[in-house]
Amino acid sequence: MDVIVIGGGIVGVATAYQLRAAGHRVCVVERHATVAQGATYGHGGTVLPTPLDVWFGPTFMASRQAAKNGVISKTGFNGPVRQFVKQLTALQEPEAFSRQYARLRPLIEASREAMADIEARFGLEFEQASGLLYLVRSAQEWQQTQTALDLLRQYEVPHHVLTPAECAAFEHSVRTEPEFAGGVLFDHERTANCPLFAKLIKQTLDTQGGVQFMLGCEVSAIRLEGQRPAVELAPRPGMASRSREVDVINADAIVVAAGYGSLPLLERLGLRLPLHPLRLHNLVAPIAHEECAPHVAIVDAVKRITVSRMNHRLRIAGGAVLQSAGQVDKPLGETLTKEALALLGQATHDWIPGAARISAALPWEGVKLLSPDGLPVVGNALHPRLFVNAGHGPAGWGLACGAGKLIADLISDKTPDVPADTLAALRADRFQ
Ligand SMILES: Cc1cc2nc3c(=O)[nH]c(=O)nc-3n(C[C@H](O)[C@H](O)[C@H](O)COP(=O)(O)OP(=O)(O)OC[C@H]3O[C@@H](n4cnc5c(N)ncnc54)[C@H](O)[C@@H]3O)c2cc1C
Repeated sequence: MDVIVIGGGIVGVATAYQLRAAGHRVCVVERHATVAQGATYGHGGTVLPTPLDVWFGPTFMASRQAAKNGVISKTGFNGPVRQFVKQLTALQEPEAFSRQYARLRPLIEASREAMADIEARFGLEFEQASGLLYLVRSAQEWQQTQTALDLLRQYEVPHHVLTPAECAAFEHSVRTEPEFAGGVLFDHERTANCPLFAKLIKQTLDTQGGVQFMLGCEVSAIRLEGQRPAVELAPRPGMASRSREVDVINADAIVVAAGYGSLPLLERLGLRLPLHPLRLHNLVAPIAHEECAPHVAIVDAVKRITVSRMNHRLRIAGGAVLQSAGQVDKPLGETLTKEALALLGQATHDWIPGAARISAALPWEGVKLLSPDGLPVVGNALHPRLFVNAGHGPAGWGLACGAGKLIADLISDKTPDVPADTLAALRADRFQ
């Protein structure tokens, strides 16, 4: 089949890879000049989410203060965003959290397999580093973390629960004063460089053939009339169209994997997904003192701020700002940007003082789609030949590989390797 994938982030690239592997001809349409320029560019390094990484559950936004929960909430009186927060808050209840994580878990495992297969085939090097140490400050937060720890035991995820002294003994850079509650070490989980991975996959596809990357092209609309869907391309900037004709490409199937850009494309077709855009920040800081730098990634488990080492730099990611959807297209403003970046600097200073030269750090911000039930939208929607792969949230890198495989299976009329309740929980029409 001829399949168009809209979006050249990690989700679009991973989907193109799986479609090609299933024998389809693929065209990826990306509005930037190269792949991995959207949310994918600013990833924090964590490859696959554990129950401590997902952006829902007992510890997520459990406090209203950004200094405690890592999310700057500027929802004002906006009804839709308040409703969105209310739905996410319902997942703080331990049973609801466990139920929802159980639905996500098969996608995580499918993603682990898909990544392992890609790595075994091509021997890709994308700055993989083993080990993540999650740290928790207060006794109350530690208590809230227990449901996630129960899930780790239930699913036999290899991990070690550590006392503060054991954390410091394992990772010399972690400070023990002021006192904190404890840590969880995953020595088998990894951090790595997501945009580099996406670019290496693109290179592999360029070499193999069968996947065309239309870069610098924006899809302005999707057409669903008749059996063969199509996309309309926006005129390229500076190339005034002399005729009124629109550039249209037909295909046997279309996959919308355009990150935040997926929403307007689907809305024009009448599909309004309640996914919410969340701004996230990144600081790439030089290492200040080598003897203070961590040798595994450090995660502030409640604020969901990750500090991972990449050669002589530390990548610090998190600092979410939650606003109404209409605000996200406007610049954030100096005060809020400073506040978000300060969260990153403070978390780094709190856990690993002296490790990063924050004053010399390069900031970056990106927008990620988060869903009100914590799960991405992966599956068919509106038309037998239209598929959506979006809303993977701030822990979406590794998931992209399994979600791409799922979409390729659906398009190939193959039964996906994930259970029916996971498939149903990922469908676009679950929100109706
Ligand atoms: C600061 C930050 C830190 C993060 N940390 C982590 C982490 O540690 N671990 C993790 O797993 N995840 C992390 N994430 C989330 C992860 O980066 C995302 O889940 C993932 O990158 C989503 O990929 P995507 O392809 O859906 O979106 P994007 O990367 O945003 O890709 C979408 C692409 O579609 C293109 N596009 C949009 N509309 C159109 C159109 N109309 N026509 C053509 N092209 C279009 C865009 O240009 C873009 O390139 C982080 C995100 C941010 C912002």
